Amino acid sequence: MPKKGHVPERTCIVCKRKMPKKDLLRFCIKENKIVLDKLQKEGGRGAYFCWDCLPKIKNLKVKRKLFQSLRIKSNEVEIDYEEQ
Ligand SMILES: [Zn+2]
Repeated sequence: MPKKGHVPERTCIVCKRKMPKKDLLRFCIKENKIVLDKLQKEGGRGAYFCWDCLPKIKNLKVKRKLFQSLRIKSNEVEIDYEEQ
């Protein structure tokens, strides 16, 4: 039987809402790019976005937050993400 009442939660870095991990989109760094971690399986630091905030990813302020939560210092890292 699957355990109930123990859903891993993460916080959206933009709106700070807490949500079950599976309802959020995880971004991580891979080969010097910020990529969407679709399976949430990549190691290292991740940054979570909710679906509402995802369209704001190209917004400069949001980008900064993303860099901050991934501990990236330079703005030279590309975000390898295209809106679908
Ligand atoms: Zn959000």
